[in-house]
Order: sequence, then structure tokens, then C-alpha cells
Amino acid sequence: MEKEIIQFWKEDGTFQKSVERRSKDKYYSFYDGPPFITGVPHYGTLLSSIVKDAVPRYWTMKGFRVERRWGWDCHGLPAENMVEKKLGLKSKKDIEKIGVDKFNEACLRETSQIASEWEDVIDRVGRWVEFKGAYKTMDKGYMESVWWAFSELHKKGLIYEDVRVSLYCPRCSTPLSNFEIAMDNSYEMDSDPSVYVKMSARGGSALGGKGKENTYFLVWTTTPWTLLANVALAIGKDIDYVKVRTTDLAYRQAGSHLSAHDSTEFYILAKERVANVFKEGEVEIVEELKGADLVGMEYEPIFPHDIENGYRVIAGDFVTTEDGSGIVHIAPAFGEDDFQARKPNDLPIIMNVDEEGQFTEGEWQGQKVWDANGEIVKWLKEKGYLFKREQITHSYPHCHRCHTKLIYKAQPAWYVNVDKIRQNLLDENEKINWYPEFLKHGRFQNGIESAPDWNISRDRYFGTAIPVWKCETEDCGELKVFGSYEELKNISGVELPDYHRPGVDNIIFKCEKCGGEMRRIPQVFDSWIEAGSMPFAQFHYPFENKAVFEKSFPTDFIAEYIAQTRAWFYVLHVLSVGIFGKISFKNVVTTGTIAGSDGKKMSKSLGNYPDSNIILEKHSADALRFYLLSSPLLNAQNISFSEKAIQDIQRKVLSTLWNSYAFFTLYAGVDKWESKNKLGAVSDSKNLLDRWIVSELHKLIGEVDANMQGYDLVKATRPFELFVDNLSNWYIRRSRKRFWKSENDGDKNSAYETLHYVLVELAKTMAPFTPFIAEEMYKNLTGDEPARNATHSVAGGSVHLVDFPASDEKLIDEKLNAEMKKVRDVISEGLQQRALNKIKVRQPLAGATIKHKIENAELVEIMQEELNVKSVVVLEAQEENIKLDIAITPELKLEGTARELVRAIQEMRKVAGYEVDNHIQIGYAGAEEVFAKFGELIAKETLANNISAGELVEADLQKEVLIDEVNYAIFVKKD
Ligand SMILES: [Zn+2]
Ligand SMILES: [Zn+2]
Repeated sequence: MEKEIIQFWKEDGTFQKSVERRSKDKYYSFYDGPPFITGVPHYGTLLSSIVKDAVPRYWTMKGFRVERRWGWDCHGLPAENMVEKKLGLKSKKDIEKIGVDKFNEACLRETSQIASEWEDVIDRVGRWVEFKGAYKTMDKGYMESVWWAFSELHKKGLIYEDVRVSLYCPRCSTPLSNFEIAMDNSYEMDSDPSVYVKMSARGGSALGGKGKENTYFLVWTTTPWTLLANVALAIGKDIDYVKVRTTDLAYRQAGSHLSAHDSTEFYILAKERVANVFKEGEVEIVEELKGADLVGMEYEPIFPHDIENGYRVIAGDFVTTEDGSGIVHIAPAFGEDDFQARKPNDLPIIMNVDEEGQFTEGEWQGQKVWDANGEIVKWLKEKGYLFKREQITHSYPHCHRCHTKLIYKAQPAWYVNVDKIRQNLLDENEKINWYPEFLKHGRFQNGIESAPDWNISRDRYFGTAIPVWKCETEDCGELKVFGSYEELKNISGVELPDYHRPGVDNIIFKCEKCGGEMRRIPQVFDSWIEAGSMPFAQFHYPFENKAVFEKSFPTDFIAEYIAQTRAWFYVLHVLSVGIFGKISFKNVVTTGTIAGSDGKKMSKSLGNYPDSNIILEKHSADALRFYLLSSPLLNAQNISFSEKAIQDIQRKVLSTLWNSYAFFTLYAGVDKWESKNKLGAVSDSKNLLDRWIVSELHKLIGEVDANMQGYDLVKATRPFELFVDNLSNWYIRRSRKRFWKSENDGDKNSAYETLHYVLVELAKTMAPFTPFIAEEMYKNLTGDEPARNATHSVAGGSVHLVDFPASDEKLIDEKLNAEMKKVRDVISEGLQQRALNKIKVRQPLAGATIKHKIENAELVEIMQEELNVKSVVVLEAQEENIKLDIAITPELKLEGTARELVRAIQEMRKVAGYEVDNHIQIGYAGAEEVFAKFGELIAKETLANNISAGELVEADLQKEVLIDEVNYAIFVKKD
């Protein structure tokens, strides 16, 4: 059925109609975060697609025009890595060898082919989005808008170039931004050597002049390879340090880390760390020192370089005594703190690692740093520098694309000055409605508060080229930033069909200042700057579509999973505040992540989740949608995938609803009943059940509506389950007899009118969440078909083209709702007592006493029927809410038997294949007393015109019925 509906929507153009029929003056803007074009759809993308469908469907039904356009993130490492694999390239050198032009052509070709796989999956879950005309970040116009954005930031003084330390992938040969690392997948558990090395002190006042030659600083590091670039040691000024001497005990007990007998050794380390570094009794303290006393002391480098101002102790406020020795080794090229310490202390920098992470000099020249790590430790031991070696397991960042272990490396790069606009970012965040709300002042605000400046340059190929041209002449310093292709053409005289590398690199022009050559810097943009530019770049703003952009900015709604708080949401915010001085999204829904059924990350090899296609085929897209939308995921919490939960929703919500709908269509068909108003109209029925279900319906509509306005999808979807239960297991069950009546009196008509109305309105209310079942029910119940097939007044031909129902306060009777609930609760307590005493519900009982009075007489009657008791009396003195009189008299026993016979005859009617309105004849043997007393009741319930003792001639069916160990023979025949 779902597939047929997808087909219908496509042929009918229902999605396009749903947009176009709404006024341009009532615009609801939605931004779709572009997925990487190289990715494949998974549950995470299905989840965000379902949210991105339900919310716009709702606002469409609220009368807004909600355009939905797909986008693709094409540039960057994901695309490059895919092409490198395809072409068998292992490094940047390989790419340069085949040529940047060939490489980028391959990237363009590959990324243009992928899209179709997504379209099928997105269709299948019922998401409406325009794939035709999807924006691509690699489009010429898109890239020009990104240039414009950069030049705007530059004009505002928010762009600078600097050498700074950032995480760096040695395989991809490029720095990565902090939020790329913060995204999931980037941290992996690693086991690394944790070593203490001895660095010999060269003297200094604090050492009191004796034993200097045997005094060592104990230095701790988990990256021994960085020792090759060591230039200083850092201590905390206010930390307490000690000088310790090895004791005699030490020589007897010591492991290999202590030196030979004949020379006593002195070590300097933080006082607090002594107990962690040495065994008890190994050393004794000979001197106490303040960190400040150590500053300025010199030491013998392990790997000496010819540098100035190096190999001395400096103070650093980043030094702690939480781990290690309280003395930190400083290699400015390979650590953030190290690099920061360089300027105030005037330290030199040793850069001995190339862009592929290999040593450029020394014993390990040509080796990758992580590969050399172990050998370096071995060497330190052989040469007597190693004091102690341990192994630690810690979570360490890896490249999110190629999984290579990253290094911290000083690199020249271009930055957005986040610090300068930090306060604006915080102020503007106050204007955003976050769902769930705790993210606003939690993760998002914290992210802004601690954000470093944003490294936006990548030493790569397939990306938007950074539009900066620099003069090649030394000391000229001329620099040009272009915000459009035209500006570049005006100066260079060159216009290109495509501005990717290397074409754009070949644009060279004369320096206005010195006449030298102006060349483009080699970097491309971080692809996140492109993702963050989508609000304007998708429209090629400001070069085109000014009005379209302005109407849609800031957007009303975006939705992504929680990791985007530090990624897409963040970059949207930074660019928007940086360029326009205001927010780019008003409402944001953040989802959690779905783990496999075992709670671990979903993984094909673990087989801990079922294929989404199988789930969709087995349980329906509506069931998957409802499951996800009503789950804690929509409160940004994580869940483990549960097929059983989907099955439960299919059964409890969707099948129950479908059965109610099927009940209606079956009897309405038999009775040829038709609504006066096919599109559904509330009846003025006085019947209590009718009034109650309409009241519950309007309460539901109000609840769903209010929660959708607040973007609380969990609270908007959960009430359906209870309503569907009320409808099926109470309203319809209690009303069945009204539908079965032979004459179409006013009450029967009220029942039909009410149920029809409720089903139509319910279909509308559910349409944003379960669009398929809603469409099927609505069209069938109303006969609302697209114009060409229309048989009567047309609303539009689809539930998704009508308005969302309005909750009518006048129809809500809170008192009735509450009393009905109370009655249902008391009844279920009574039924539990029956179960406890093993008395079937069909067995009538004399009476029940209840504690609390029920005012409405009709409700008392309902209670009597449901409990199958002759009377209900209030007895305030009793403790229980309800108490059944469980004594069964012979008279009651006989009536119970009659009820059993009714049930058996109903069963026989079904087996015989009678229509629900067929009348019958009954014959019986061995049940004289029952039929004599309750024949009329049996006849009425089973639509029997005639009941006679003895065998029926030419009976359609006969059956032996066993009731309480007595056999009854029953015969039925169509009359
Ligand atoms: Zn990498
Ligand atoms: Zn110049």
C-alpha cells in the first residue's frame, strides 16, 4: 500500500501541489543540511529525513508554503579519499604525480554519479523533498558565494593568516578543524608508551653547588617522538618541587630504571608526584623547591640542535600535577601549549617532520613518526636516558576519513577570528529556540565559549579555492582578496568556466605595488565553510535571488543529530553572525543517535541491526517513522535499535487503527451508509460515547498542535497510542451494537457519523507523522480524489493538501473525559477480580459495590455491562474501589451458559461464511432449559428468526459445543 501511495504522489505531483497551493506570503523556511555526496543512507539519515519531513508536512497543513530542496556536500576529504581509493593513490605526492587537473576531474565525475541511491530510500520513508535542482557545493555559483562570504569576513577583519598548531593528518597531509575531530568517529582507543626520561641539569643556584653532574629533571611524555624537537622544559611556578636522592634500599629493590651502585643520583620532580613515580623507600627528599626557583636553569638536551635560547626551564600555567612528573617537555612544533609558550619565552622552533609525518633529519629520517616511536624508546633506554617506561591506553584522535592517527603540528593556515565575535555568538544564541532546550546553554553555548579560532584552510585539491592572491616578491606584502569572479577578471583579465584547482591557480597577474607576480595561495577551504554557507550560497546570493534569500533567512527550522551542535549548527552560526550579524536559524531540533540492538555502535560486521529495507518491508515506513518520532531520540537522547518496539507500534497503534477503520468501512458498506458531508463533519449526537470520543479527539488535536508549535515531537506523537486504544477498545467496542441494529434509526446514524468524523479528523492529525496510512484512510473515507476523478466537491485529493484540524474547545468535555477514564480504571480493577477468581466475563454476576459515586447514569450502565453484573451500588465504607459479588446462583449459571452458546453460534456463523446481516435459523439438542429461559436473548444476539428443539433439516453447519462438561448440539441454517 505504501508503495502504491508513493507512486500516486509522484504521478499526481502531490508534493509540488502541497507547496504551490500555499500562499507565497505565508512562507515557512527550511534548510536542509547537505549530506556528503559520498555517504550512503543509514538509520541516522533516515531519522533526520523523517524529522525533516514530519515538521514541514505539519506546517504545510497549517497553511504555510514550505519549500524543501535537497543539497549535496561534494568537496573535501570524503570525496578525495573515495577517488584516491578508486585510482589507487596513496598520498599527496601520488596526486601531484597524476596531476591536480586529472584528480579533480575524477572527483567531479565520481560525485556527479552517486545521487540516485539516496532518492529511492528517501522516497521509501515518505520524505518529500525536491531532488531536481538540488544545490551542490561544487557548483560554480555556489563556490562564488563562498568567495563572497570569505571576502565579507575579511573586510570585517575576521580573517587572519598565522602559523599555529592544529591536529594534522599525516596521510591526508592537511590540518583538520577541532569540530571535525569532535564529531563522532574521530577518537579511538590507542595504546602508547608512557615514558619518563632523565635530562641532566647543567647547574643553577637552586642546586646548592653539589652533585650537579648527577642531577636530572624527570620528564614525562606519551609522544616520545616529539623529544627530537624538544627545546625547553616547563614547570608550574607555584607548584612544589623536590630534589630526591636514591637510597641504599633502592639498589637492593630497584628494577632496571635505577642506576648502578657507585653513583648516587638526584632527581627533580613535583613533590606530589613522588609517590606515583617511585616505590616506597626508593628515594629520600633532600631539598624542597618552588617551581619559580627552577626557572632559568639549563639542561643537556638528549637530541641537541644548534639553536639559540633553548634547553632551559620555563614557567607555564598549563603544567599540572595530575599526571606525569610535573615537568613538561616543550616542542613548539608539535603541541598547542608548547607553541603558545614560544612567544613569551622567545623559544626557537624545531620543525623536523614533513607534511607526510616523516622525520626530515637524524637517525629516523624518512620514517613516519608513529612508526619510529617504539625505536626511539629503545634508543633512549640503550643510551641511559630512559628512567621508566609504562604503557597507557587512552582515547586519541584519528582522521575522520582515513583513520590515520593524527599528530599536533604547527602549520601556516588561515583562520576565522572566532574570539573577536564570541560575545555576539553568545548573544545571538539567546534568540534561537533549541529543542531540547538544555542544548542552548549547555553543549552549544559551551562550544562557543571554548571554541578556538577556526582553521578554514586545507592543503588539498578538491574544494573551493581560497580567493587570496599574494605578491611573490619578498617583503612586498601585497595581498588581494576577491569576493567575486568578476573582480578577479577585472584585475587579471581571465574568466574561467570552472574555478577549481588547478585552473584557478594558473591565474597570475602583476602586483600593483612592485610589479612582481601575484599568485594564488595554494590552499582550498575547509568544506565546513561551504556547508555553513548554504543559506545564501544555495541561491548564489548576493549575485542572484536576493529576494528569495531574504525571504528564507533566517530559516524557521533545521534538524540534525547531536554531533552537529559542534559542526553544522556551529558553522552556520559563526558565518551568519560574522557576515550578517544575526542568527541563521530560529528553531532547531536535535536528535540523539541510534546504537545497534546490543547498545554498541551500529556495525555491519557485528550484525547488531537489521537492514532498513527489511524493516520497511516487514513493518512499514509508517511504523518506523512513528517509532523514531516518538522515541527519546527526539529529546536528543540515544537509543538502542529495537525491532520489537517497531513491531509493537505496528500492532498497538497502526493495526489497531486500521482495524477500527476496517470495522467502519465494512459496516458502512453493508448498510450503504454515506455521510452527508463526505469530508467529515461533527455530528450533533447526544449519545454519551459519541460526545466522549469527539471530546477526546479534540483534546488530542489540541495537544498535537501545541506540541508541534513547540517542536516537541515526542509529546506530539505519544498521545496517539492512547487515543487509538480509546477509539478501538472502548468507543467501537462499546458502540458495536449500535452499528449492528437492523433499522437505521437516529442512534445508528449518529454512531456512523461520529466514527466517520473521528477517523477523517484523526487521519488529518496523524498525516505529518504517518503519511501513508493517513492518506489511505482519508481518501477512502472522503472519496477526495484529484480533480480528474472527482465525484464530488474537491478538497484537493490528498490528506496532505488539507488544513490541519483545529481543536474546538467547545467540543472538549474535560469532566466527561475524566469520568470515563475513572470508569475504565474501575472496570479493569473489577475484571482483574474476575480473573483472580477464574470467573469468565461471560458469566453474569449479581452485583458490584463501588467506593466512589459515578454521577452519570449512562456510565453506570456501561460499567454494569462491562463487568457483566446485574447492579452497581455505591458503598463508601469499603476499602477497594470496587468489589464484585462472586456468588453464582443457578439462575446466573444458566445465563452464563446462554452467553457461551451465543459466542459459539457467532463462531459458527463465521465458519459458515454468513454476511454480518444474514438472518439464520437455529436448532438444538440437550439445552432445553437454557433455550426455554434465554432463547430470546440468544435469538437477538445471533440474528436468529427461529429457534427450534431438535436437528435442523439441511443445516449449513452443526457443532457439538462443550460448556462446563455438558455437551450441546447446535445446528445453523441461513434463513
Ligand atoms: Zn586522513
Ligand atoms: Zn608586490
